[in-house]
Amino acid sequence: AKLNGKNCHIVFDEEMRSQLLKQVDTEKLLRQAIENDELTLYYQPIISLSDGRLTGFEALLRWNNPILGNVSPDVFIPLAEANGTIIQLGQWVFESAFIQLKAWKEEFTGFDNLVLSINMSPVQFLDKLFLKNFPKLMDTYNIKGSEIAIEITETAIIHKKALAIKVINDFKKYGIHIHLDDFGTGYSSISHLVGFQIDLIKIDRSFIELLGVNSKEDKLVQAIINFAHNLGIKCTAEGIEEAAQQRLLSIANCDYAQGYFIAKPAPASQLTEFIREHLSRSKG
Ligand code: C2E
Ligand code: CA
Ligand code: CA
Ligand code: CA
Repeated sequence: AKLNGKNCHIVFDEEMRSQLLKQVDTEKLLRQAIENDELTLYYQPIISLSDGRLTGFEALLRWNNPILGNVSPDVFIPLAEANGTIIQLGQWVFESAFIQLKAWKEEFTGFDNLVLSINMSPVQFLDKLFLKNFPKLMDTYNIKGSEIAIEITETAIIHKKALAIKVINDFKKYGIHIHLDDFGTGYSSISHLVGFQIDLIKIDRSFIELLGVNSKEDKLVQAIINFAHNLGIKCTAEGIEEAAQQRLLSIANCDYAQGYFIAKPAPASQLTEFIREHLSRSKG
């Protein structure tokens, strides 16, 4: 642990943070996080593999606590799901993302052709109240359904199939894109692509990592892409860290790409140049 500036706060490592969070009142901490402005959204660009054009961003939640420091969403999202604060966190995420999207559309012509992807926990996705208030939320910030995508994992849809189908269809009525996240992990099943109205799958980083290393993995990714395309479903590869991976995905006809090789997630304030450059490029 080290002392840091005038606040003299202790910098914990990931393991200490995780242990500590299990012992403190995380529900209270997370409520305070919203009230005290400790949350921010980072945005990671997504590009089209065929022409390198910017197609959108994924909003990623960040929590900076004065005592704990930066807590990874992989750590605090599961805790928020367990104690119920995910509903408030999720609400905050949507409002903040909409405020940013509105500002971007006002600043950049052509931004309304991009898609902002927002992650949704299963609990929030199946929350009737959230869905009911959703049209009003879009209205308030002048957001069109086609400008956003909701990213859900299979855990959100397989346990309550009938409800999930209904919710997906309701969101799709507004023109919202539905993306299936972390495809290839967990409960993943090709049959889910047939039963639900999914627009796009995000091929999990664990597959991308092994591209070019393991020829079986290469064939599997190719098969996933072909299968999705046959069903009219698009594919994004996530976690691209090397040029070779991007090249292989391009050859495999994958539609979109996201990863540190293209750009790391960053606060909106740091993306102005990137957006300006990409949007002017696609015009000319
Ligand atoms: P995810 O939805 O699968 O998000 C992709 C994760 O991969 C992000 O981690 C992103 O920063 C990271 N990533 C992107 N490119 C690369 C790369 O090239 N290499 C590597 N190693 N990692 C890359 P992050 O931001 O830490 O988020 C972790 C998870 O937390 C997300 O996984 C998502 O499940 C959850 N999460 C984040 N924000 C939200 C949110 O607003 N709401 C909900 N419900 N969950 C969120
Ligand atoms: Ca995601
Ligand atoms: Ca993912
Ligand atoms: Ca994930």
